[in-house]
Amino acid sequence: MEDVVIAGAGPNGLMLACELALAGIRPLVLERLPEPTTENRANGLVGQVVRLLDRRGLHERLAGPIGPPAPAFVFGAMRLDLSLAEHNSLHLLGVPQRRVEAMLDERAAELDVEIRRGHELTGLTQDADAVTLEVTGPDGPYRIGTRYLVGADGGRSVTRKLAGIGFPGVTEDRTLSFTANATVPAEFADPESGGLRVPGHGVIPPFFHYRTETGLFVYAPFPAGPLISTMEWTDDEEPADEPPMTLGDLRASIRRVLGFELPLGEPEGDGPHLLRRLRGRNTRLAEKFREGRVLLVGDAAHVHSAIGGPGLNLGLQDAVGLGWKLAATVGGRAPAGLLDTYESERRPVAERVVMHTQAQSALLSPGRDVTALRELFGELLRLPATVQHLADLMSGADVRYEPGTDHPLDGRWAPDLVLADGTRLAELTTTARPLLLDFTGSLGEELRGWTDRVDLVSGQADADATALLVRPDGYVAWASSATAPDDTERKALRAALERWFGPPLDA
Ligand SMILES: Cc1cc2nc3c(=O)[nH]c(=O)nc-3n(C[C@H](O)[C@H](O)[C@H](O)COP(=O)(O)OP(=O)(O)OC[C@H]3O[C@@H](n4cnc5c(N)ncnc54)[C@H](O)[C@@H]3O)c2cc1C
Repeated sequence: MEDVVIAGAGPNGLMLACELALAGIRPLVLERLPEPTTENRANGLVGQVVRLLDRRGLHERLAGPIGPPAPAFVFGAMRLDLSLAEHNSLHLLGVPQRRVEAMLDERAAELDVEIRRGHELTGLTQDADAVTLEVTGPDGPYRIGTRYLVGADGGRSVTRKLAGIGFPGVTEDRTLSFTANATVPAEFADPESGGLRVPGHGVIPPFFHYRTETGLFVYAPFPAGPLISTMEWTDDEEPADEPPMTLGDLRASIRRVLGFELPLGEPEGDGPHLLRRLRGRNTRLAEKFREGRVLLVGDAAHVHSAIGGPGLNLGLQDAVGLGWKLAATVGGRAPAGLLDTYESERRPVAERVVMHTQAQSALLSPGRDVTALRELFGELLRLPATVQHLADLMSGADVRYEPGTDHPLDGRWAPDLVLADGTRLAELTTTARPLLLDFTGSLGEELRGWTDRVDLVSGQADADATALLVRPDGYVAWASSATAPDDTERKALRAALERWFGPPLDA
């Protein structure tokens, strides 16, 4: 009997596998495809997920040390000047999804996770004790028993369907987008901004969603070569047997969106080169994230427009939010109800992503009324408080899980602390163990009974707290600002330890 089987070795399934392995549970991963996919979806990571990777030592593997937050971003195809925000925490990491997947695949191998490629989940039944899976592998069908199954098998999740979990939401079928690697003649380049100088439009900045009343145009000059996209709105039915997309389709779309013939050329370099036509857009949220012993993470639990790139910020944090709770449950040391907090914490976050991607999609749709709405929105975007609000929404810095005390950091993502000896919090969290950061030098005694599960970090730091209990997923479970926490605070600390990590050993 397996402890945990994960269906799907996409980014979220791989991340969950790594988290479980760090917590001492070795999951089995089933992946339908025989080889890692070369298809690229995400071109970058946006928000807290960048800091999350740093806190597992994984940012370093992708792009070296983490840099400062981004100076600007976009919301609904409007520029978000992040220099106006008082606390900018919007990080960006421009790496393609396939590199993120390759890195996680390598990390999972280091942690001894078994990934069976070419093995597809096709059926499941569950009772009070276990889930029985039907799997089709290269040598034919077979069965596996497991204590838990996690569906990380994407938007069309077979796990979700087999578990009978509904996927309500909306399908908007009027959008049509074209994306391709292509080159643009040098005379259109604007060296100062890195964007394009297009007659009738001035300079279109790089990586910017440029809206006209007939659609959207994006020029993204990645180091490996430019990626060019359009989006249009159409009432035309999808033709039967539509031929594969060509660069000519993108040229024609650009002509409709910009009213200008941009002479695109074939992409340079080895590739693989992208040519992608996408129709429609789904916004759906699973009715529940758990049915008995079956759980959902990532796109299996929620799909939404890719606008603003929030997918992996949401999904990878789902995986990290679930990993430690599921490991503690399987290990028999979880406090009652711990696994249920996976959904109670992550669903509201997914609901906000659904909300802001729908709002952004509305802001970039065609029509003069939308143009007027954008004019007003543009005025609001000059207000620092609005920029702060949107930056926090896009990064996920506004997420606050249910706090146990009224300390402002309780329930929030732990700040990027640096200890007096130069150690960054991110260097202490690579093991995914819970930490009690005690800068008062007086709390070690309270940890008696939990030292098998929680590590004590002493020292000094210039921080908004004198002590913090940090969960494996990076969220604060208790905090104090007192130089000598009193009995009430100590009691609250013990309550938090018990709430999240179970009763003390000597209890
Ligand atoms: C065009 C586009 C652009 C995007 N851009 C961004 C972006 O810039 N930034 C961002 O953060 N996000 C972006 N996203 C979203 C991001 O790509 C997804 O959120 C992400 O791929 C979800 O990962 P996942 O692991 O949940 O699912 P998936 O990546 O879909 O992986 C699911 C895996 O499960 C496997 N599988 C399916 N069924 C079975 C089965 N029955 N048995 C076994 N295995 C199975 C599949 O083969 C696949 O490998 C974009 C998405 C799209 C479509």
